[in-house]
Amino acid sequence: WDRSDFPWSKELEDKMKSVFKIQTLRPMQLQTMNVTLSNKDCMLIMPTGGGKSLCFHLPALLSKGVTLVVSPLVALMEDQIMALLKFNVAAEMLNASTNKDTIKRVQEEMVSHNAPLKLLYVTPEKLAKSKRFMAKLEKMYQLGRFSRLVIDEVHCCSQWGHDFRPDYKFLGIMKRQFPQVPILCLTATATSKVLEDVKKILNIPNCYVFKASFNRPNLYYEVREKSGVQTEAMDEIYKLIQNQFPNQSGIVYCFSKKEADDVTTELTRRGIKVGCYHADLMAVERSRVHQAWLADKIHVVVATVAFGMGIDKPDVRFVIHNSLSKSMENLYQESGRAGRDDKKSHCILFYRLQDVFKQSSMVFTEQTGLENLYGIVAYCIDANRCRRSVIASHFGEVWDKAHCNGMCDHCDPAKQKSTQNKDVTKYCQDVLTVLDHAKRLDQRLTAIKVLESWMQKGPVNMRVKGVEAPSSNILTLERILAYMLIQGYIKEDFHFTPYSTISYLVPGPKAKLLSMGLENVTMDFFSCSNQT
Ligand code: ADP
Ligand code: ZN
Repeated sequence: WDRSDFPWSKELEDKMKSVFKIQTLRPMQLQTMNVTLSNKDCMLIMPTGGGKSLCFHLPALLSKGVTLVVSPLVALMEDQIMALLKFNVAAEMLNASTNKDTIKRVQEEMVSHNAPLKLLYVTPEKLAKSKRFMAKLEKMYQLGRFSRLVIDEVHCCSQWGHDFRPDYKFLGIMKRQFPQVPILCLTATATSKVLEDVKKILNIPNCYVFKASFNRPNLYYEVREKSGVQTEAMDEIYKLIQNQFPNQSGIVYCFSKKEADDVTTELTRRGIKVGCYHADLMAVERSRVHQAWLADKIHVVVATVAFGMGIDKPDVRFVIHNSLSKSMENLYQESGRAGRDDKKSHCILFYRLQDVFKQSSMVFTEQTGLENLYGIVAYCIDANRCRRSVIASHFGEVWDKAHCNGMCDHCDPAKQKSTQNKDVTKYCQDVLTVLDHAKRLDQRLTAIKVLESWMQKGPVNMRVKGVEAPSSNILTLERILAYMLIQGYIKEDFHFTPYSTISYLVPGPKAKLLSMGLENVTMDFFSCSNQT
């Protein structure tokens, strides 16, 4: 599909240069445009900033009639329409707040042969809820003016994605209603489960799928241990920002609205210019923070994941995660807001075992919630693999660590520590012994209690003779416990109280094998003195 001898190839190249002022195409752009111009269904998976929009803007100019673009956010549509009008491309949008006159004018243009309209942006709600609009589309289709359906952020169809929008499900009828109209799906989400789900929902099982690489060579990925004491953790983030990124733009992602409020207070008290952004703040306040940040009046936005889609500042030098994200996918997307200008930028995640349980008690009701969470835990506790290779394998890419160029904490020659593989079978068996002991006493143990008993601390009746922790370093014990969790030697058992959900640890599906001595557990450890 990367040929340039299609009937439209010459015009494509001309318009690319004359209208959009683009000289050469990026990987996957030509393939995608050729497929969609051949009236075939296509899905393009490309990281944010990769250049997905051109793949339908340009074909829209080469096709007669109108390209319908479904997009989840009015702010995204506004940006795109502004950009298109600058290039003198006729584009319009319809959403919940469009006035009657505009609706009438646009709907007339949809069905009149000599109207200039090329691209029409709508929210999924518009399609799902307006019968009159659907009737107009039907008419446009009959007239042969419905040239293409573009679905932006198409992962919103799937409940397994990180951004499910119920109205996107409705798009499933489009293929049946308009069988001749090629569908072009765009997303930066590459989880194969989500993509398979999307194909099914949209009724395009045989669509062409193109995927650009997800590697972001200018992003430095790093995981740091988070202090268990909140003021110390805040001091560390403060120093990090102050020393490494003074007066530079960044984002600090938090796990909850409450955490975002707290971190805002703490960083403000220490003298950093921050703004807070989460769903409980009024829209005007959110917009004020966003604008002030864009204008460099504040340097850091402390936010929940509500600060996400449509955030497009080129010079974000750092993205810090104050707590664990809920999946690798989320981590990649959130971190990916750094370094859009291709300059070196840092993505630093502060990890601590306790954060796993904060997240797990939130996500365990989602279909693959725990699986996704344990995926990112594996990333955090890994002692030697290139961070990029973990990310790449998550996106189904093969990765050669040599290509990291020292741009992660495990490849960086300045940080590199040697690791040693050690047998921890006996220690893991001890953890199971502690759990069995508690069960006999009809007691439930949270992770903290397990660690206590393991170290022969805490209530005397919870301690077991012969059980011995491998180290006095709590971080080492936490790592082993996390590893047992993601490997299924132990599992979480959730209990509801009126105020919260508590995660207790119990033997997991692979516990038997371990207790019976049929399985050996080995882990990599840093070979420095303070860690076993
Ligand atoms: P995405 O939708 O994938 O996040 P955009 O479509 O917004 O990304 O494109 C990001 C930027 O890259 C835009 O400024 C766009 O003009 C630019 N761009 C896209 N394709 C090319 C190209 N082939 N050459 C140069 N710049 C491009
Ligand atoms: Zn690396």
